[in-house]
Amino acid sequence: MLDYDLHCHSTVSDGLLTPADLVARAAGRGVKHLALTDHDDVAGLAEAAEAVARHGIQFINGVEISVSWRSHTLHIVGLNIDPAYPPLAEGLHAIRSGRGIRAQLMAESLARSGIGGALEGSYRYAKNPSLIGRTHFARFMVERGHCKDVASVFKNYLVKSKPGFVPHQWAALPDAVNWIRGSGGIAVLAHPGRYTAGHKKMGSTTMRELLREFTDFGGQGIEVVSGSHTPAHYVEFARYAEEFGLYTSCGSDFHGPGESFRDFGCLPDFPLGCKPVWQLWEAK
Ligand code: AMP
Ligand code: MN
Ligand code: MN
Ligand code: MN
Repeated sequence: MLDYDLHCHSTVSDGLLTPADLVARAAGRGVKHLALTDHDDVAGLAEAAEAVARHGIQFINGVEISVSWRSHTLHIVGLNIDPAYPPLAEGLHAIRSGRGIRAQLMAESLARSGIGGALEGSYRYAKNPSLIGRTHFARFMVERGHCKDVASVFKNYLVKSKPGFVPHQWAALPDAVNWIRGSGGIAVLAHPGRYTAGHKKMGSTTMRELLREFTDFGGQGIEVVSGSHTPAHYVEFARYAEEFGLYTSCGSDFHGPGESFRDFGCLPDFPLGCKPVWQLWEAK
């Protein structure tokens, strides 16, 4: 079992627990090295770091940046970042500022499908209003009984070609990588097993083109063990890591009790031959 968890979310983005409660849960479940990686915001890091000090575990400053690459939305995790680095802080601010208008368009689109009040209703779930996102909409729609759980709201409303989906332009891949690296951090491709082309998973040709660009821009890591991966993905992405000389990362992508595929403290070891991403900071 890995005692590193380098991907999770607090109420600063679309998680259900405050940074301090998240840290307490991780520590209580055996995590010894934790990164908080909220979407497009670093506002929870100070609170998490303070809580971590009380639990005697290691804390790593993180973020998960939303990126548009070709027709895909990708997530790039930054580890060991400096949250105060101005280009990173400004870049994240710019991404966040697009979320408000997107939410408005999503609510209008849902209203056309007969679902009213989604904007106000969803903002009630966004503890950090500048980070309003699809998960907050999903929670509102479950509350109103449109679907039985968050996953079915996504499936029926919030993904491409469904009524609540609004295409959006996020950060460019080289920008996200540069903000992370410029701040002293490590850029990691998050949950590659989740990227799709239409209804199919992203093909190996596109994945290789992506990984070539990502590494050329300075990306150094890839999530192999992730809460959104199957055991077959662990093997598949360990091979890609080896092919592209990438360090491997792991994280539950925990969002909250009852809502996530994985809780803290149950990530299996990497396949043999992986180079864990923490070698990069433990060597220093
Ligand atoms: P956003 O940044 O607003 O597009 O929201 C992205 C977030 O939605 C992800 O980080 C997940 O937390 C959540 N999400 C995306 N797809 C799904 C899904 N199929 N089921 C449940 N949650 C999802
Ligand atoms: Mn999320
Ligand atoms: Mn993600
Ligand atoms: Mn995530």
